[in-house]
Amino acid sequence: MSLKINDDCTSCDACVSVCPNTAITAGDVIYLIDADRCTECVGAEDTPQCQMVCPADCIVEGEKESQDQLMAKFKALH
Ligand code: SF4
Ligand code: SF4
Repeated sequence: MSLKINDDCTSCDACVSVCPNTAITAGDVIYLIDADRCTECVGAEDTPQCQMVCPADCIVEGEKESQDQLMAKFKALH
């Protein structure tokens, strides 16, 4: 699945630089994950890097996608 950021985001900016797919950007209020770019780090890392660094624990499950779909998305992006 792609991940999403909930309202607990404090806009600390820690997640942006760790994303292998440049899927995270600053929004008007909270940060946002582009579902078309988030592969849950499949293809690049063993675990979602943004969740590991987020001090607010506000990055949660989003749209459901299979491992094959996530890998296909990663290959299309790179
Ligand atoms: S799970 Fe990985 S690919 Fe998705 S937004 Fe977080 S760091 Fe980026
Ligand atoms: S690391 Fe968490 S709290 Fe910080 S900007 Fe990203 S989602 Fe928001």
